[in-house]
Amino acid sequence: MIDSSKFSKFAISIVHTLQENNFEAYLVGGCIRDALTGINPKDFDIATNAKPEEIRRIFKASRIIGKRFKLVHVFNRSELIEVATFRAGKLKSQNPNNFVKDDSGKILRDNTWGTIQQDCHRRDFTVNALYYCPSRNKVQDFHGGLKHINKKILVSIGDPQGRFEEDPVRALRAVRFSTKLGFKIDNKVKDAIYDKGHLLSGVSNARLFDEFCKIFLNGHAEKNFKKLNSFNLSKYLISSNPGLSDFSMNLMIEALRNTDKRIKNKKSITPGFLLAALLWPSLIEKCSNKEEINIRKFFRSMDGILKEQHRLTAIPRKFQTYIKDIWVLQLKLESRIGKYPHKLVKHSRFRAAYDFLLIRELAAREKSTLGKWWTKFQNKNHSEREIAINALKVKREQEADKKFGFSSELI
Ligand code: ATP
Ligand code: MG
Repeated sequence: MIDSSKFSKFAISIVHTLQENNFEAYLVGGCIRDALTGINPKDFDIATNAKPEEIRRIFKASRIIGKRFKLVHVFNRSELIEVATFRAGKLKSQNPNNFVKDDSGKILRDNTWGTIQQDCHRRDFTVNALYYCPSRNKVQDFHGGLKHINKKILVSIGDPQGRFEEDPVRALRAVRFSTKLGFKIDNKVKDAIYDKGHLLSGVSNARLFDEFCKIFLNGHAEKNFKKLNSFNLSKYLISSNPGLSDFSMNLMIEALRNTDKRIKNKKSITPGFLLAALLWPSLIEKCSNKEEINIRKFFRSMDGILKEQHRLTAIPRKFQTYIKDIWVLQLKLESRIGKYPHKLVKHSRFRAAYDFLLIRELAAREKSTLGKWWTKFQNKNHSEREIAINALKVKREQEADKKFGFSSELI
């Protein structure tokens, strides 16, 4: 029923080793769901009744991670597999120190070990709760996940209202899985997204940065963005408001579309580039009137814009520098004087800045002149580049003459 040739050999070997040591072990979660829906599984999770310390003892190359959710990472040279002990989830008799919730119902700690049935019960959606044993080539399905895969529908395990209170990120996960799999979202889940989405404001910015990357750097960014907007959730991941203007919305969509295209064409992607584009409308709003950018305000506003976004999704420092570079280069691409363009094409961020310029022009529904100039400029040799810069100088002088009313006949 499952084509296990698509699974990581290393992950399967970990399952076998655990079983040889008399533990139960299964591949679980996204890899099974993806394999059954015709998507190539990319990351492999294992669930077992072995405790973290026991797993650690069996595998030399492993380490226990996490406090709130203890897990073991088992690794070889090229892969890292997450091995998690079955968790009990909600149990009336449990030790309160092992399962802690905050005032809004959010789970803060969950280290009560349990059985496979209990482990299954605390997972988010039925399609994510399928356990596969490679030795017997058999899937265990306690919540109708297989049926829901056939029906192409995303259904919550348990009442989604309560499940989203426990962990509001499940609302984002619902959106992400429905787009990725092409599944409908069950009505009860939809209602819970509307009712509990606001709780995302209480989720840590580090976790939301992870979700930001998963949702927008997975090849379905544009669709996810539109779906998030329809649920009024994009504001928990992006600080700029797409409703500011047509340009803002166009720019955000074009940037997301571009990211999807790059992933399809197996080109490199970085959250830095996408954030530079998504936050550009806010920056421009802060420092320009309709006609032009106020350069001083532009430089003064950059950190504030990054801070607003950082409050939502922690932006790692290296990306902050990257984003500012791309922004500042937008101004530099405008001035094409003397030796400057020669230097600029050698800048390590030139390519990214140029790509972003093209996206801005696309979003402005403008005829690309500056972008075209740079496209041609890059493909010229040194002396041709000189000619291009000079031609621009002459044109500029002629325009200045016109502006001030000079005409060669009058001199
Ligand atoms: P993908 O790897 O494509 O993002 P995934 O389903 O594998 O999808 P992971 O975040 O890798 O997602 O989690 C592995 C499994 O752990 C899930 O399939 C689900 O069963 C469970 N899980 C993960 N996050 C949650 C959560 N927030 N609430 C409940 N269960 C979760
Ligand atoms: Mg996964």
